[in-house]
Amino acid sequence: MALIVHKYGGTSMGTTERIRNVAKRVAKWVRAGHQLVVVPSAMSGETNRLLGLAKELSPEVVTPPIQRELDAIAATGEQVSVGLLSIALQAEGLEAVSYSGWQVPIRTDSSYTKARIQSIDDARVRADLAAGRVVVITGFQGVDEEDNITTLGRGGSDTSAVAVAAAMKADECLIYTDVDGVYTTDPRIVPEARRMSTISFEEMLEMASLGSKVLQIRSVEFAGKYRVPLRVLSSFTPWDIDINEEAKSGTLITFEEDENMEQAVVSGIAFNRDEAKVTLLGVPDKPGVAFQILGPVADANIDIDVIIQNVSHDGRTDFSFTVHRNDYARTMDLLKNKVAPATGAAQVLGDPKICKVSIVGIGMRSHVGVASKMFQCLSEEGINIQMISTSEIKTSVVIDEKYMELAVRALHKAFDLDQPVQN
Ligand code: ADP
Ligand code: ASP
Ligand code: MG
Repeated sequence: MALIVHKYGGTSMGTTERIRNVAKRVAKWVRAGHQLVVVPSAMSGETNRLLGLAKELSPEVVTPPIQRELDAIAATGEQVSVGLLSIALQAEGLEAVSYSGWQVPIRTDSSYTKARIQSIDDARVRADLAAGRVVVITGFQGVDEEDNITTLGRGGSDTSAVAVAAAMKADECLIYTDVDGVYTTDPRIVPEARRMSTISFEEMLEMASLGSKVLQIRSVEFAGKYRVPLRVLSSFTPWDIDINEEAKSGTLITFEEDENMEQAVVSGIAFNRDEAKVTLLGVPDKPGVAFQILGPVADANIDIDVIIQNVSHDGRTDFSFTVHRNDYARTMDLLKNKVAPATGAAQVLGDPKICKVSIVGIGMRSHVGVASKMFQCLSEEGINIQMISTSEIKTSVVIDEKYMELAVRALHKAFDLDQPVQN
């Protein structure tokens, strides 16, 4: 008997018929002798719908009092899902009980709309499992020290599931979704993308942080920190497929590096259209200027991603960085009204229509020329690179948003990612 956490995403929970299917699949696992904790997301489109209602009443959503209410609203999507799934499980003849984040409780900090899980009390869940029940826990939501409802950021149900699996020392966490695993890039953009049967934790972490929304980045961080065995697989296979076959399907996130395996130089391509670029022209180039620019941005709780500072001419330089598109207006405001006057910058420019495309691969550590091959490929497509950022196992470029799909497809081909892996 194993303790298994299943997570079902929005599409997998999208209709009552699909919820019934989820219940049948869970019942199959229970009848095979396992203890099951199930973490569903809201039905697909529901979180957007709920947040859309709030936006109709207040388009300005960055103040903490409004964000508190946004979380209270958004959390209801998952509240409905757990109730429906519990009923469906009971209809399958199982004993099942649903819990919201506060009932477990899943404690988080108070950063509304992007709260971090701090602790999970598993006593109640364990008691239910011991009594033979399936426990269904809301994804995405938690509760802070003052009993305010919080949410974990978009896509946060992945993190709820992995955190529950970590807290309960589950034998495995299975993330059921609308694709049958992690692909070399988003198969919606590149139909030739290939499913990987395994991906290293480090690569998965980079892919998620660079925009591959198949797993929320924090879920991967949790899996790494607590060594949670984690697998991404399809919820759209027939529910009654052989359980052993199902247990080996999809993509396993691996923690041990297989020394014997030839590492692909580039394993995957990620992209992100959620960023915007801002530039200060003609900033006096003197010690402390980067701090003078970025300090106020950090104080406003705005995350900065790629940064470049140009070579200076006549004691002045240009300084660009990217922020989340949701923070674009605020950043521009801050730069125009506070930072430019304080630093003596000549002009502030902004471009919200950019995207970031990244190549990721552990093999980049030991191979030279990977970045230059990327730049060559983009130049052959006539795509101008605006910014570059690299780390040990990734190279990212910022380009015009309108070239995103072209860039991803061209790079996917240039690095032979559509070819079967040679072992
Ligand atoms: P869920 O609702 O189950 O959480 P998501 O929409 O959050 O599902 O994540 C699954 C989606 O992630 C897929 O439909 C796919 O379009 C997208 N995706 C992006 N990058 C990848 C990738 N590298 N491999 C697989 N899917 C990816
Ligand atoms: N329902 C939430 C969202 O749409 C959480 C999730 O699906 O993981 O972002
Ligand atoms: Mg998701």
